[in-house]
Amino acid sequence: MRKQDCEHLERIRRSREGLDVEQQGHVTSCSICSDARVVDHGLRALVRSIEWNPLPDAGIIWLRARLVRLQKATDRVNRPFDLAQKFSWAVLSAAWVILIASQMPGILTWIGRFEAEQLVLGGLSALPITTRFVWLFAGLSAMTFTVLFHRILDID
Ligand SMILES: [Zn+2]
Repeated sequence: MRKQDCEHLERIRRSREGLDVEQQGHVTSCSICSDARVVDHGLRALVRSIEWNPLPDAGIIWLRARLVRLQKATDRVNRPFDLAQKFSWAVLSAAWVILIASQMPGILTWIGRFEAEQLVLGGLSALPITTRFVWLFAGLSAMTFTVLFHRILDID
């Protein structure tokens, strides 16, 4: 390896305020001093950027890393519950569709002959619904609210 050195290099490095005319002339003609000057400018810029953007405290970095690790562990533990919740929503949605569809002819008939005075005189009692439908409706409502509350609690 060839040693690259110039007799002016140390003097040029130490001139922090700027180069005089003689030094500027030398730097433009000498590749060693020119390269050293470029590297010196780059290092000074790097030092300035570090001074302006200091690294955060090591304790904060450690705490953030710990929080990220805890969050990932929590997500991993909750994954089966999330899947169960999505499955519950799918089953409940299908059950609601089936229940409503099974009663649709009666509901359409009731809507077709609906009149304003029926609303006052117990119009809902004229709805042709069975006791089984009422129980299914109540059961599905309870399950829907249970899953809904689970979802609300899960968000917090
Ligand atoms: Zn030189």
